[in-house]
Amino acid sequence: MSFAYLTHPYSTQHEMGPHHPECPDRVRVIDDHLRAHGLLDFMREVSATAAAPETILRAHSPELLAELEYTSPQQGYAGIDGDTTMNPYSLNAALHAAGAAVRAVDLVCGGEMQRAFCNVRPPGHHAERNRAMGFCFLNSAAIAVLHALEAHGLERVALVDFDVHHGNGSEEILAAECDAGRVLMVSTFQHHLYPGTGDNPMADNMVNVPLKAYSTGEAMRAAVSQRWLPALDAFGPQLIVISAGFDAHRDDELASLGWVEADYRWITQQLVAVAEKHSQGRIVSTLEGGYSLGALARSVGEHVKVLIGAD
Ligand SMILES: [Zn+2]
Repeated sequence: MSFAYLTHPYSTQHEMGPHHPECPDRVRVIDDHLRAHGLLDFMREVSATAAAPETILRAHSPELLAELEYTSPQQGYAGIDGDTTMNPYSLNAALHAAGAAVRAVDLVCGGEMQRAFCNVRPPGHHAERNRAMGFCFLNSAAIAVLHALEAHGLERVALVDFDVHHGNGSEEILAAECDAGRVLMVSTFQHHLYPGTGDNPMADNMVNVPLKAYSTGEAMRAAVSQRWLPALDAFGPQLIVISAGFDAHRDDELASLGWVEADYRWITQQLVAVAEKHSQGRIVSTLEGGYSLGALARSVGEHVKVLIGAD
């Protein structure tokens, strides 16, 4: 089997000011961990290219792209919202993060690779059709899902989101495709945490499972077993795209769930089993949140180890 590892130098050039948790070191510690543990020996390293405008415009409005281009500073910073800031590299970083997910879909749907992991930032799942927010500019995962449907002619794609925050942007962008039966979105998130959405799914074919603050991986495992897996099995996805956030980890200071590395290992095992059964093993995983650097590196390590079958 063959596996792709996609990243790009812009992922470490975009930064939002001193002490911001969504920082370039996130990508660096993951890269270092995967290299140090020999996991990249099992993967082909692929440099991401920028996503093409027509690919982005399946998910976003022309007005959002124009706003990002207009806001992008020549030097210093430009604010998008209280938590989300652009530096001169941010737009290119967002274009290449989306481009990594799109290239991963091309490699996997084209049969060159079976699975891919994109170690890129900024994350994307809060970005709505017409709005950048919550550390996110372009919704890489939603762009990847729509690319698989439109450019590769897939009929059923599942988007799985286990970031601790609800993927409001993915839900908004993909609601019509969920209603049309072409997309199934399953997610877990900490109840009432930022952005406060998710209690009432916007469409059929959306399985949103809020988890109580201070709950552990045990609650997640029950939710996945009882809610996600029957829905995924009934849907029979031809490709699984993962919004892989690691901020539900017990060490993460942006949230209050108690997952550990073994939980990321378990959840990935479940998704690999679904992919083996329905999707010819095909999975594209792209990085979302995760702000405790040590926990992030170790958790991604477990996730990737299972994806590439190196355990
Ligand atoms: Zn998050």
